[in-house]
Amino acid sequence: MKRALLLLALAASVALALALPWGPLWIGPGALAALAVRRWGGGNPRSAAPPPAAAPGGERAQETHRLRQMVESLDTAVIAVDADHRLLYLNPAGQALLHLSEKPIVGARLTALARVPELARELDRLATAATVRLDRLELADGRVWQLELVALDDPPGSAAVLARDITGLARLENLRRDFIAAVSHELRTPLTSIRGYAELLREDAAASPEQRREFVETIAANARRLERLAQDLVTLSSLETGQYPFHFQLLDPGQLLAPAVAVLAPLAAERGCRLRVEAAASGCVRADADALHRVLLNLIENAILHGGAGAEIFVAGRPAALESGKQAYRLEVRDTGAGIGSADQARVFERFYRVDRSHARANGGSGLGLALVKHIVREHGGEVSVTSQLGQGSTFVCTLPQAPGAAPSSSHV
Ligand code: ADP
Repeated sequence: MKRALLLLALAASVALALALPWGPLWIGPGALAALAVRRWGGGNPRSAAPPPAAAPGGERAQETHRLRQMVESLDTAVIAVDADHRLLYLNPAGQALLHLSEKPIVGARLTALARVPELARELDRLATAATVRLDRLELADGRVWQLELVALDDPPGSAAVLARDITGLARLENLRRDFIAAVSHELRTPLTSIRGYAELLREDAAASPEQRREFVETIAANARRLERLAQDLVTLSSLETGQYPFHFQLLDPGQLLAPAVAVLAPLAAERGCRLRVEAAASGCVRADADALHRVLLNLIENAILHGGAGAEIFVAGRPAALESGKQAYRLEVRDTGAGIGSADQARVFERFYRVDRSHARANGGSGLGLALVKHIVREHGGEVSVTSQLGQGSTFVCTLPQAPGAAPSSSHV
């Protein structure tokens, strides 16, 4: 009995370690697979008979049954093969990993069962090593596996394979890495500028008071840019993790247009843009007023900054019916500015995507504005889209679901 408990404890610790999605995967899992092979001899585990309750050797049979259940329920693939790579044992996760629709026959060749030449190659490495561990094995079909192979001596030349498909995690890891690289890049430019101008201020004794003021202005502008980047990153992160403090209530989005236009009227005047509310019909949506105000500010500010001097900007809001027949409220920011090419239109909602990098940076944007707009609108159950033509201008449209009971509309989005 003591031995049975020991084995169970080992199996449980392995099962727990294997349950971790990423990280300390390797706590002697080979032992478990070895156990599986030795004890079950590679028989079809699914068709195993229930353990005899009180028969002679019943304790041993029960122990085997428990261990088998454990290995069968693991979401880590456990595969055992003999020296010729013929199958000795495979748990359901292994069957799924190898994309096998049917339970394979014990004794079938691994290469005939699944096209994973990388696995055969790693198994061959066991000729000279007791174990092979790979945190990340990229397969030709695009999948990524985490893998451990253990050489077994019974039968001689056999091996146990433990594997997990970590394709999704690897993709997330890549996204995280790209994101960190992009943020570092965004930080570097203003920081370099701040340092450079600060050094000039300190060392350029011949600089006139006007030049010194210019240096200080540049430092201040870059500090503002960093501040905005930090704020937008915090907002984006809170949106992505579901922590953004939304306060939803029923409101009329038509009422939000004039205040947003008022905030940006001075910037529009400074840039020689004409900005006006074209229509502000009333509607009723379940929304967070501050978040929608932010959406409008982002879209209008973009129209001013990226549309170009002299652009006309129209802001409008009205109820409209979606193609699906559902009632929506349509918010629109249209400009007659530079426009966005069709290839770029598909990407402007991505984080840090800019059509013209130097121009956009010079305007002080964080490159996260439209990503925030997209997130906020989605949190309202709506969609945002852009249509644009180079040299003709752009139209950004947000459609928000009308609150139930709101008056239906006859116009279409
Ligand atoms: P930012 O404005 O900080 O650069 P955004 O995410 O708000 O970042 O916008 C991404 C990019 O989309 C901008 O850099 C710009 O190239 C382009 N863009 C957005 N709105 C417009 C517009 N109204 N007209 C032309 N280009 C635009």
